[in-house]
Amino acid sequence: MLKDRIFSARRHLQRLDADFIIFFGLSTIRYLTGFTGSSGLLVLGIEEAWFLTDSRYTTQASIETSGCTVIEYRSQIGSIAELVKGSNARRVAFDAEHTTVALYNELGKALPDVQLVPAGKELDGLRAVKDAEEIGILTAGAAIASNALLGILDLIKPGATEHEIALALEFAMKQAGAEEKAFDFIVASGPRGALPHGKASSKVLAAGELVTIDFGAVYQGYFSDETVTLAVGTPDARQQQIYAIVKEAHDLALAAVRPGATFSALDAMARDHIAKEGYGSYFGHGLGHGVGLEVHEPPTVSFRNDGVVEEGMVFTIEPGIYIPEWGGVRIEDTIVVTADGCDVLTKVPKALQVL
Ligand code: ZN
Ligand code: ZN
Repeated sequence: MLKDRIFSARRHLQRLDADFIIFFGLSTIRYLTGFTGSSGLLVLGIEEAWFLTDSRYTTQASIETSGCTVIEYRSQIGSIAELVKGSNARRVAFDAEHTTVALYNELGKALPDVQLVPAGKELDGLRAVKDAEEIGILTAGAAIASNALLGILDLIKPGATEHEIALALEFAMKQAGAEEKAFDFIVASGPRGALPHGKASSKVLAAGELVTIDFGAVYQGYFSDETVTLAVGTPDARQQQIYAIVKEAHDLALAAVRPGATFSALDAMARDHIAKEGYGSYFGHGLGHGVGLEVHEPPTVSFRNDGVVEEGMVFTIEPGIYIPEWGGVRIEDTIVVTADGCDVLTKVPKALQVL
């Protein structure tokens, strides 16, 4: 598996006409080498693959990695420079998404005769299409998170605070085997629902409110991402109407997922529906994003991305309507693209649930 991944990564050497690519992004490094620690970099050439790390991680790296030579460095830049100079390299590409300006400047100083070529998001794009093992892990992780939410539904009632709900959800997830929560959960009730990223607060839930909960688990290094909007007590006509519009937008986009569709077309399925119902200006964000070793990774599912959906990609579909002072509705599922459509990995039913 790792061999195939390194093979794909090496194609970028030709594309960039570079002797080496230096990877600094730890998620892509994990993907290519198996290393799960928090410090290291990968220098990839057509023949060589050097994984450089400091003394805290050399033992771990020699256990976890395959397909690369582990090198312990004292000075990161010094070690890179030594390897690159020793190979008489002329052009070296680097992972610009994960390189600071300071690091770039240091590299330039250490390698004055080498042309440094920035490589962009396409390097993280190596991870966009998931293999069977990854889909298995993502499926299991999404189920852990969904079941955790379903297990705490009776806590979501008038008098509970958003914090209490977030805490109970995290506890349930970890009890079920999650390594970590995927991010600080969003629990946004009543008017706070208008904040697409309203982290759980001390606000108390009241009857007649909608509550949006955006949550996920980390399982075997992979993230899950799901959003539900629930009604606490009987929803009024406007709440029902706005929920229905978002749900229809979600369903339309989901039904359009298949290999060959463009991301911009998927986004348009949801966005045009919301606009037609008169709420276009209340849906400000893109339709979704890839999910894997990071909670947001390629592909971007938005009107700006004319890229094409491929079998094995895993991404979210998450339309929303956010109305200042009133509140909001978002419905998010994570899906995996199949040969002729998609499977939904996140399992909480998306018909409006009244608690
Ligand atoms: Zn989310
Ligand atoms: Zn998301």
